[in-house]
Amino acid sequence: MIILGQRLTAFLFNYSIAQRILVNHEHYRTHIIVYVEQPFMKIHVLHTGQVRVSPYLPFGGDNCNILKASGITTPKKDWIWLPVSVYLIEHKNGLILVDTGWHRDMSPKGVYDKKAQIKSLGSRILYNVNQGLIPPRKAVNEQLEELGIKSSDLDYVLLTHLDCDHANGLRAVKDAKHILCAGEELECARKHSFIRYKKQWWQGVNLQSIKWNGTEGPVHKSFDLFDDGSVIMVNIPGHSDGLCAVKIVNGKGKYVLLFSDGGYATKSWKEMITSGISLDKNMQRNSLNWIREQSMNSDCIESLATHDSEIKPHIITL
Ligand SMILES: [Zn+2]
Repeated sequence: MIILGQRLTAFLFNYSIAQRILVNHEHYRTHIIVYVEQPFMKIHVLHTGQVRVSPYLPFGGDNCNILKASGITTPKKDWIWLPVSVYLIEHKNGLILVDTGWHRDMSPKGVYDKKAQIKSLGSRILYNVNQGLIPPRKAVNEQLEELGIKSSDLDYVLLTHLDCDHANGLRAVKDAKHILCAGEELECARKHSFIRYKKQWWQGVNLQSIKWNGTEGPVHKSFDLFDDGSVIMVNIPGHSDGLCAVKIVNGKGKYVLLFSDGGYATKSWKEMITSGISLDKNMQRNSLNWIREQSMNSDCIESLATHDSEIKPHIITL
């Protein structure tokens, strides 16, 4: 009975009524219903403003040191602006947001605001390493509102990691039903709270750690959200300990890979360019290699980095 129920649910979700056709026959007159296949899932790729960094931070490579990556040795005119993506997944089990981008309080008036950024980040050092800008109506909660979604409508917020450009906006969606990240990332944030992470970004937020329940990925740690293989968080450490990619898989095995900061662009895995910020270079390279394999697989429909300036906001049907 249960199996039948699940199948029926999947059928009804995957197919919608296209039309009713009136059938006339000498003995009867009835309607038949024609079903057409519908997309299984929708993924909205949203840009919630920009981040400015030294070019060595995203594309510093294996020999980049922290001074170069932090931009101290690079003139400001050579710094680059990159998008800050988040993703909204319309799934049959609910609405899932991946990452949160910046909080509006980084750019209260929609323009560059140094004072506001230092306050929002809670750190002058972090401000010196990366600066943010959110144009009007582009903060995560503002874009969700535009789609008619309140933060309490979100069933899950999945955080790929807790760096400021991914978790600073968390307070704007704190009413989501479940907010999850890897336990390794919470531990990493605790260990590096002096410079890299600030607890204030998730103050008052019910942030819970996931329990690995699978062995996918470069370090064989993965979390299957619905236990059906459709949304999987995969640990890709290196950039940070608990960094996760999110793999969204449809019923036919086709998937979209959101690889967060496992690389900063498509060219990162194509040319194997590691970023300048890493806690473990070997692991970072190992993870990038996994991203490359996954991205080159013929079942991969799209493979997206959070900060790829080549990728524009769009909707993926899967
Ligand atoms: Zn980032």
